[in-house]
Amino acid sequence: MKEMICTQCERGCLLRADSDLYEISVSGNECPRGREYALGEYASPVRTAVFNVRVRGGTAPVVAARTARPVAVNKILPLSRLLAKLEVAAPVREGQTLFAALLGESLTAVSSVGRKEI
Ligand code: SF4
Repeated sequence: MKEMICTQCERGCLLRADSDLYEISVSGNECPRGREYALGEYASPVRTAVFNVRVRGGTAPVVAARTARPVAVNKILPLSRLLAKLEVAAPVREGQTLFAALLGESLTAVSSVGRKEI
């Protein structure tokens, strides 16, 4: 059995998902959206992930970047480890694609970082 809080509305129902050989059962949901959410979380949980990316020559040392789409939870740690070894060059504009296919994911800057004047 897996328990989770439904994030589809402010009510935050406590959902329980369990499976036998034939089907996944969901309880605790107050509406059908909760069931769909629980089935997705049970089968393959995903999150929109936000990371800090180092900036070379910038007015700030890092810029926040998020994945363009929700990614599998088990992909977040490998992405984080890979990003720890990478950097981007300043300037960075908000909304700029920093990496187009990092482990198959696109990362976009959440804010801007200017170039440091020397
Ligand atoms: S199950 Fe329905 S009512 Fe409950 S939190 Fe999810 S969306 Fe909201």
